[in-house]
Amino acid sequence: MSHAHSAGSLPREDLIRAEILALCGSQSLNRSQIAGRLGLGAATVTEHTRRLIELGFMRELPPQVNGPGRPRVPLEVVPDAAYTLGLRVHPDHLVGVLMRLDGSEVRRFTLPFDPSGDPVEQLSQACEPVLADPASGPKVRGIGLALPGVIDPAAGSLRLSPRLGWTGLPLRPLLGARLPVPVLIDNDTRASTTAELLFGTGRDHDDFLVLAIGDGVGMGIVLGRRVHRGPDGVAGEFGHVPIGPDGPACVCGRRGCLDAYLATYALANEAQARGLTGAGLTLPDLVRLAERDAPGIRDLLAERGAILGRAVAGVVNVLAVRALTVIGESHVLWPFLEPGFRPAVEGGVLSALDINVRRWDDSAHARGAASLALATIVASR
Ligand SMILES: [Zn+2]
Repeated sequence: MSHAHSAGSLPREDLIRAEILALCGSQSLNRSQIAGRLGLGAATVTEHTRRLIELGFMRELPPQVNGPGRPRVPLEVVPDAAYTLGLRVHPDHLVGVLMRLDGSEVRRFTLPFDPSGDPVEQLSQACEPVLADPASGPKVRGIGLALPGVIDPAAGSLRLSPRLGWTGLPLRPLLGARLPVPVLIDNDTRASTTAELLFGTGRDHDDFLVLAIGDGVGMGIVLGRRVHRGPDGVAGEFGHVPIGPDGPACVCGRRGCLDAYLATYALANEAQARGLTGAGLTLPDLVRLAERDAPGIRDLLAERGAILGRAVAGVVNVLAVRALTVIGESHVLWPFLEPGFRPAVEGGVLSALDINVRRWDDSAHARGAASLALATIVASR
């Protein structure tokens, strides 16, 4: 295992060991069952499971004889053989999840965080109690960091995060110098997409999209069981898909981007422009108004849901995916976006689409970051 391994690109072959751990974490399977479920050759599974057994991450169970032929040897994960720590940085707090090899949680924690303070100092301090704990510390093999913003994964650097007010921050080298285990950083949507591939939608689908609704909208793309990143790690910038040439101004400087219709500020501006509310509406305000069916609010949200649904249908048709999973911090708005979204997307796609909406909690992107760290520490290169 090389610590110089780039966190940026995880081609299929690098995810295979994490996929095997995730698959066998919930049930013991023999090598041919693993090969069948993951669409891999027998030799590939034999090679990767041998390495996972050498690492102590998996073990063989007694052989099972079922009729003629060679007995099959079931394999199981040793969940407590190693842990990864995932951190998600929010504008005012930080969520950490310590994860076992099978994806289950050892524990989670929340700490205050001030983006205007020293990020390296605060992030190191968040990791130190976990690393110093004699029960967990020696087992931690990697730390993943999920951040809202544009990440240069090869350099391990955050390019831009308007939400955190950070630009050009080489977090991976800075934290790597402070912490005794490899540190990976990625965009939060892609970290959660990796978690979906390993522990969620990827159980049933090799190709799928993850629609993240938060401050704006983002998209995770999985094709052939590989998380698509694009050459600069910026694939999935769904929020700046152009929708209306005369649409509202977007933070990127253009007009009529999807985000300019769906982001919380955009919804608040439109509610005010329609005379439905005053200025400065927050997300909780919007949810409260929608819940009590204040005049015009549900119509506005359903209209915006329909805009989102048409844009999603376009991507679904281009990539020919059959599954869409909805995640994100704005899930609270989903019940009001969905009445517009679902008919628009279902009316727009060329083949049936399996839509799953995840119950969201604050730790989801942190679990994604821990999954990304898991994928990277067991990667074959
Ligand atoms: Zn834009």
